[in-house]
Amino acid sequence: GHPQRIAVQIFPYAKGRRLMLTRDITAIELAEAMRRDFVANVSHEIRSPLTVISGFVETLQTLNLSDAERAHFLDLIAQQAQRLHTLVDDLLTLSRLEGSPAPDDAQWVAANELLLEAVAQAQALSKVLHGGEQSLVLQPGPALDVAGARNELLSALSNLLSNAVRYTPAHGRIEVGWRLLPDEGVEFYVTDNGPGIAPEHLPRLTERFYRVDRSRSRESGGTGLGLAIVKHVAQRHGGQLLIDSQVGVGSTFRLRLPPARVCVGPAG
Ligand code: ADP
Repeated sequence: GHPQRIAVQIFPYAKGRRLMLTRDITAIELAEAMRRDFVANVSHEIRSPLTVISGFVETLQTLNLSDAERAHFLDLIAQQAQRLHTLVDDLLTLSRLEGSPAPDDAQWVAANELLLEAVAQAQALSKVLHGGEQSLVLQPGPALDVAGARNELLSALSNLLSNAVRYTPAHGRIEVGWRLLPDEGVEFYVTDNGPGIAPEHLPRLTERFYRVDRSRSRESGGTGLGLAIVKHVAQRHGGQLLIDSQVGVGSTFRLRLPPARVCVGPAG
């Protein structure tokens, strides 16, 4: 539903004669608008932690505080600095994914090994956020290797897992695993019994900075870039990201890779 935009140029080329050139610039204008939006979003995301940091620095400089109070403010400053760090890391990851060709110097990685590492990271996060009450289950799957950029695949799976950990409450359950598809492709899945996502949000979920609940995302350390990163990684590997969710029931995120990227059998 975007209005079409046409650029018109008129060239007088002889007495009383003009040539009119028209060009459809809808796509160009759309790309330009998206770029402007993106810059505005990034600026906003940087500004809020910066405001907090300068505010607390000023507090430290002007008030006469006890050691305990000072330590408290320093903690808050460190938290916001960490937020900026994560944001910049995610931005760099995204721009690397968007600006470089798909990984063809593929490494073969065991599915099992990828998930073990992603789950270890998620477990650590779950402990911090929910004090070890969440259950995080890695389902065994068929022995297989996948071809791709190891760090990208790991970051995609970690993003899906960290979302599940962050949005699912303490007593919730998260299941992760992989399965072969009928066409011999592979599907990694992350399922949670968290709050779920209303259908109207689903189509926009992988847009950069799109969040269902902004403050909820921020509180748990979200940048709003995670699913954009996952989608890029999937597409660069010729695969796709599928999202199923139901409010009050939970969500399933599936990262699919095509048969060409799969080698079945024990790693050797
Ligand atoms: P964020 O850093 O905000 O988590 P993402 O791009 O990873 O950014 O996710 C976008 C939004 O999708 C989140 O803000 C959240 O609203 C929603 N979301 C992602 N994963 C889940 C999940 N497992 N359960 C519920 N909502 C989710």
